Amino acid sequence: RIAYVNGRFSRHDQAVVHIEDRGYQLADAVYEVWSLFDGKLADPEGHFARLERSLGELQIAMPMSRAALTMVLKETVRRNRIREGLVYLQVGRGVAPRDHAFPHPGTPPSIVVTVKAIDRAATEAKAAKGVSVITTPENRWGRCDIKTVGLLPNAMAKQAAKERGAAEAWFVDEMGLVTEGSSSNAWIIDADGTVRTRATNANILRGVTRYSLLDILREQGMKVDERPFTPDEARAAKEAFITGAGTLVMPVVAVDGQPVGDGTVGPVAMKLRSLYIERARATAI
Ligand code: PMP
Repeated sequence: RIAYVNGRFSRHDQAVVHIEDRGYQLADAVYEVWSLFDGKLADPEGHFARLERSLGELQIAMPMSRAALTMVLKETVRRNRIREGLVYLQVGRGVAPRDHAFPHPGTPPSIVVTVKAIDRAATEAKAAKGVSVITTPENRWGRCDIKTVGLLPNAMAKQAAKERGAAEAWFVDEMGLVTEGSSSNAWIIDADGTVRTRATNANILRGVTRYSLLDILREQGMKVDERPFTPDEARAAKEAFITGAGTLVMPVVAVDGQPVGDGTVGPVAMKLRSLYIERARATAI
């Protein structure tokens, strides 16, 4: 495997960043993950727009143009000879002597790109069975709309899910409402067929898969309500699912060990999964 680190391609097992990199010291870095279909980046526009927004909120300059960055991403993919997988990009404030305040604005940003293969057949088999989620109290900072590498609460939530045999953890806020998953957005389909997901504010990530799916839902003429839901409402719903570049659209069949609806994979979630994949493959670059 090959990684791109600050202007160079190197062997993945030998790729390193400096100990004074602010991404390492202070989680002062943001990231994006693209799903890769047949060697092409899915939802390119949405991920670049969000990257620019995350960087802007942190006053980190875009390290190079979108076109140049696309070339770096695609060259890293090419060198890895991976067709189906995930592309990871991290952009940080760079290397500077440790100090909480930002270094000189001229400090070059750090850029890392890695690519990993995913087994589409295994993911499809997983989708056909559906996954379980657990719930956990929301304990993240107030700017979850910025996609930073400060993921410790997310990592702890995912580990708790894993220990309980679940695939994802849903954070639940003080009002008892689900915010989102540790690495995905959360959705339900109500008894009347309305598709529900929380509106985006500073509390959740603006999932690129979420926005693409909202477009698809509108095209399909389906009812959408951007309103949060409780874990009880999820269990009482007809269907539930999660979205993200890694899972695409993944049916959820249980919440905290209790079935969602009749506990089987819902036809609507599976239909949305195939519509999303079809669209992502068609628009990938
Ligand atoms: N929420 C969180 C906290 C995430 O980490 C992710 C995955 N990056 C998502 C939602 C889904 O976002 P996307 O559809 O852009 O992958």
